[in-house]
Amino acid sequence: MKNKILALDQGTTSSRSIIFDNEFEQIASSKKEFKQIYPQDGWVEHDPKLLWDTQFETAKLVFENSDVSINEIASIGITNQRETTIVWDRTTGKPIHNAIVWQDRRTAPFCEQLRSNGEEPFINSKTGLVLDAYFSATKIHWLLNNIDGAREKANAGMLAFGTVDTWLIWNLTKGKSHITDVSNASRTMLYNIDSLEWDVELLDLFDIPKSLLPEVVNSSGHLAMTDSSIFGIEIPITGIIGDQQSALFGQLCSQSGMAKSTYGTGCFLMLNTGNKIIKSSHKMLSTIGWKIGDEVTYALEGSVFVGGAVIQWLRDEMEFFVEAADSEILAEAAGDNGGIYFVPALTGLGAPYWEPNARGAIFGITRGTTKAHLTRAALESICFQVNDVLKSMSKDLKSPITELRVDGGAAANDLLLQFQADISKTKVLKPTQLETTALGVAFLASIGIGLHNMDSLKGKWSLEKTFTPCKSEKEVKMLTQPWDDAIKRTIGWKE
Ligand code: ADP
Repeated sequence: MKNKILALDQGTTSSRSIIFDNEFEQIASSKKEFKQIYPQDGWVEHDPKLLWDTQFETAKLVFENSDVSINEIASIGITNQRETTIVWDRTTGKPIHNAIVWQDRRTAPFCEQLRSNGEEPFINSKTGLVLDAYFSATKIHWLLNNIDGAREKANAGMLAFGTVDTWLIWNLTKGKSHITDVSNASRTMLYNIDSLEWDVELLDLFDIPKSLLPEVVNSSGHLAMTDSSIFGIEIPITGIIGDQQSALFGQLCSQSGMAKSTYGTGCFLMLNTGNKIIKSSHKMLSTIGWKIGDEVTYALEGSVFVGGAVIQWLRDEMEFFVEAADSEILAEAAGDNGGIYFVPALTGLGAPYWEPNARGAIFGITRGTTKAHLTRAALESICFQVNDVLKSMSKDLKSPITELRVDGGAAANDLLLQFQADISKTKVLKPTQLETTALGVAFLASIGIGLHNMDSLKGKWSLEKTFTPCKSEKEVKMLTQPWDDAIKRTIGWKE
């Protein structure tokens, strides 16, 4: 029966392929890591050929390692690392340079220049984004200005730009489809999230010819068809969405006011704001969640740079424990944080502080401080940062966020989730399925091919455990006040 979905999940460090059955059980998966390229301090690149090769290899392996046949696949869904920028030659399909990854900071000086020219409010009003090197626009600008012959070729209409979804689809369709979905388009800093079109004034500002850009399509529906040479038969592509938006959809946060937090290397919070663009006054990003049919769903987003990574650092660099999960046992043994506050600004601070020159610090150390206290403080620091983003979001929303759905590797830690519930005064809902990124696009692809609709998906999210807040206002204040103070003391350290 043709009722299974092949989800392609192209992430920052690995490519994964997963087959979901009609009930969204994972029945097979395969993963390949690929090389990170660091040409200079602050620069991060990927080889686009490797992105495609590892993705395609995992898609083949997933069939080789299971008894599912390609004929059982109803359609494909694609979710991807966002903002990462690739430009290629339309005729040869060859990239003109490596992909410039979202983490790459090479265009920060250009952003500074734009900021001092007073362009930020203009950019923000159209895109919902803060002016930052993170997004694709300045990366495309860099490629056109720094790669030999690129500008001339771009002006002659010979080049194509794409984020990773677009690049994979170009390869899956042998160059027949040059498309991206609205969620990915909304991260380029070239897309007007209100009028839903590439913005001519922004293209002008960044000096990017329109001919470079893909067509923008819905996140769900009949979006493209793979070339028959790829899998032996043509398969429809019926879901495309950026990874964080996919996790929001995978958590079935489909109604306005519903929020999720992904606790991975960093922490990624997203709040569904329905058909309204909420412009943040608290340094959150407004972005497109997804578009299905004629309906656009918007979201507010805030990202914490160092989340689970602080536990990884204690494990690998400090050698405090062998497994990340041991952090829970140690923290439990500590009983409380012993007055320790750990600000993990290891790479500066992201939302809501946006302080690139902050650096990590541990406050309150005494003769009585133990490894267990430091570990507990590290876990608490993840929650304090998420709490600060939640507070900003609820100020923008003008109402409290009373429920938070969680996922990602560190969401396996119950102590962390209980602490989150306590200090944020919100119910924390942990689903049975913590890997929601691939699930989200599988949902969208199954809607797109007509196997499911929003109603039939409702039962597909199941709760494993609820964490209910159980600290008094006074107790919360006693915990969060020193944190606010600690944050202030780390700001500007690198200056
Ligand atoms: P990513 O997708 O960003 O690679 P994952 O969702 O796989 O991240 O989560 C891995 C991160 O979660 C690591 O940084 C790890 O230190 C952290 N982590 C994993 N398990 C736990 C745990 N039980 N408690 C705290 N942190 C954990």
